[in-house]
Amino acid sequence: MYIRDMFDKEKSLISLEIFPPKKESKIETIYDTIFKLKELRPDFISVTYGAGGSTKDTTIDVSSFIHRISNVPSLAHLTCLTSNKEELNITLDSLHKQGVKNILALRGDYPLEGYHENHGFKYASDLVKHIKENYDFCIGGACYPEKHLECESLHQDIDNLKQKVDSGVEFLISQLFFDNNLFYEYKDKVRKKNINVPILAGVLPILNKNQVKRIIELTGCSLPKKIKKIIEKYEHSPNALREAGLAYAIEQIIDLLSWDTDGIHIYTMNKPKATSHILNNIKAIRGVVCDECAC
Ligand code: FAD
Repeated sequence: MYIRDMFDKEKSLISLEIFPPKKESKIETIYDTIFKLKELRPDFISVTYGAGGSTKDTTIDVSSFIHRISNVPSLAHLTCLTSNKEELNITLDSLHKQGVKNILALRGDYPLEGYHENHGFKYASDLVKHIKENYDFCIGGACYPEKHLECESLHQDIDNLKQKVDSGVEFLISQLFFDNNLFYEYKDKVRKKNINVPILAGVLPILNKNQVKRIIELTGCSLPKKIKKIIEKYEHSPNALREAGLAYAIEQIIDLLSWDTDGIHIYTMNKPKATSHILNNIKAIRGVVCDECAC
């Protein structure tokens, strides 16, 4: 199923993001995670693409596995910065052959070891145009409520986003954030620029202290005082920090849902137990159980 056909004004979508096993590991190591996540009845599951295409084949295989074993559509991430047209076409052909219908078209980060001319795929919008012209996938793109790290201003980043969406992006998934007000303000600015595609809000449950440090380095997202206090207070009690991090994510999601956000995209970090805890706490709000079942 195409994700563009799933958006519904009355109901927010819930999507779950996983990463595929590294090249050295067997693909089967992810199967148990997928089986558990599909039981949570997400609207779709997305599969990341390792930096520079390092998980190319597993991203394809895992995306294909998801929709073969369940009726949950998959969304395959694909980056373009370090690939040429021929390489991208091989991946796109393979995804099409395996029945994957949805692609998150990304530029990818600059590799630490340097960057070589890549035959015209400098921005995600170049990949979007290429897919649009040559294939029949539903195309998603990334967006950044606190601006992309490389961009000088949020204003400029939104102008660039407009170009990307006009190239053929049909929905957006946001970078994670911990302050919902930033997301609401961003959405207002995006809509004022006449960018009208649905936007799923990225939510990362904080499960441990090291994860927070790494995520901030990678994304540049800000930490509100409330979450800083939680980390400060519970940094030496892993169970307490996990519990508080999950409660924070649940509160964030309930607020996003009450504002009729188009969808919530949970960065699961391949942790079905934590994801299940979150979704079980919003069952009735999602409307996946009847009132009797919820009591
Ligand atoms: P773009 O949209 O191309 O933007 C990149 C930068 O270029 C921005 O600063 C933008 O403002 C600027 N820009 C865009 N167009 C123009 C233009 N025409 N002129 C001048 N400047 C321009 N990375 C992975 O490697 N694998 C993944 O699976 C993955 N999944 C992700 C999922 C989500 C939801 C998100 C938010 C990010 C993900 N990333 C992933 C990270 C992503 O690859 C990086 O953030 C990357 O640096 C930017 O990718 P993009 O597609 O947003 O790029």
